[in-house]
Amino acid sequence: MADKYTDFVSRGWGRDLAKRLGLPQPVTLRRHEPGAPLVPGPVLLVGAGPGADALETALKGWDVEVLRDLGETHDGGAAAASSGAPAARAGAGKGGARLGAIVLALDGIARPEDLSGLFLAAGRHLRSLAPSGRVVTVSRRSSTADEPAIAAARSGVEGALRSLARELRNGATGNGILLAEGVPVDAPSALGALRFLLSGRAAYVDGQFLTVGTAKGELPSDPEKPLAGKVAVVTGAARGIGAAIARTLARDGAKLVVVDVPAAGDALAKVANEVRGTALQLDITRPDAGERILEHALHRHGGLDILVHNAGITRDKLLANMDAAKWDAVVAVNLAAQLRINDALLASDKLGEGFRIVSVASTSGIAGNRGQTNYAASKAGVMGMVRSTAARLAATGGTANAVAPGFIETEMTARIPLGMREVGRRINSLQQGGQPVDVAEAIGFLASDAAGGISGNVLRVCGQYWMGQ
Ligand code: NAD
Repeated sequence: MADKYTDFVSRGWGRDLAKRLGLPQPVTLRRHEPGAPLVPGPVLLVGAGPGADALETALKGWDVEVLRDLGETHDGGAAAASSGAPAARAGAGKGGARLGAIVLALDGIARPEDLSGLFLAAGRHLRSLAPSGRVVTVSRRSSTADEPAIAAARSGVEGALRSLARELRNGATGNGILLAEGVPVDAPSALGALRFLLSGRAAYVDGQFLTVGTAKGELPSDPEKPLAGKVAVVTGAARGIGAAIARTLARDGAKLVVVDVPAAGDALAKVANEVRGTALQLDITRPDAGERILEHALHRHGGLDILVHNAGITRDKLLANMDAAKWDAVVAVNLAAQLRINDALLASDKLGEGFRIVSVASTSGIAGNRGQTNYAASKAGVMGMVRSTAARLAATGGTANAVAPGFIETEMTARIPLGMREVGRRINSLQQGGQPVDVAEAIGFLASDAAGGISGNVLRVCGQYWMGQ
């Protein structure tokens, strides 16, 4: 689906006109291209200590040039140097390569005073950030077990990062990684999350945090094929976000089963051919949907490793005008079907080890949306389901996560009246709607072995939508 305004103001006289009139100036975002560098320039690593050193080692292992700024301690002294990487001057990149990313190693902070030296050091370099550059914080998740000062410092990171993300321009984004207590900075999923957030795969993820709960997971031997050998099922795959998910997972090496209603059979067959997968015509609200999916995956592909619950519908009405048919239809497709299919699959002993469930929720389920009580109930329900299912899957090394898209350019959003649609796609930090592939990339990451330590997360893919956290 085209966003003609973004095309118009991204180049030539359209850009100059928008600037003169003070209109929103969304830019074309950097998206994943197989074989392209991970980041569009050197990475500035801010912070000192073992965590920062471990991040430097990982970044260099990915062929990234690393500069260091050790920041200052809260009493003004420079933090002790422990690294051989060149120190960055403020404004590094001027006249030279612009910074591809700034990574803040904040895992060691213990008091609110520790934040200033590190965030201010990052701030001094922000003007050197390349278009579609990245700021990524790596810090510890605060918990009620923390001393109040530690909890305050850790929570402070979240507020600072979310505000910083709103200040970035030119398609740059800011996101964070929260490590549970005891999870090392270089745990597989911490590094997997860092790689994802730095890359073009996370183009429309902005102002968000991924929580790494355990040191489980494994980085792929080939970063271009992180799903090699996996069998994945995607529901609602005949068009829109579902078709993009199927294409992305296939590109990343997975074998695909694409599912949609019989009425969408022709479009489904086209997607199946394109991704060299198999099509399963199935209404997911059927009572035996889970059994049918499992039987098809085992019979045609010999296993099942990844289930993506994407199929969803809207039946919008103000609650005062809502009828039971509209409410029930939405909950049946968006939530009850997922619960029933999960129950059928998890009761089976035929699933692959480290089974992955990724559900598509919505920012409407977080922030609420006028006219969508039924839809928001279903999508908030999906998030609750995912958190509870994550706990059930933990024993077998499986994970359950959700992505919550904001405004994505699909046939679903093309049906929104023009004025509302134009507002909907601009009210986020990137001033544009996302593409289906942006949601697909987040799902691809959460479905990969690299995300084995990430479970029960809800990752928003919304360009940092203005509403809700
Ligand atoms: P879409 O309407 O373009 O595609 C949805 C697909 O699901 C269709 O192919 C449809 O036939 C299929 N489907 C519907 N009911 C089904 C059933 N009972 N059994 C099997 N398949 C069924 O929608 P989309 O925009 O691609 O949305 C995909 C998902 O993303 C949905 O869950 C939606 O709620 C969610 N989402 C979309 C947006 C957005 O901006 N487009 C934002 C947030 C969340």
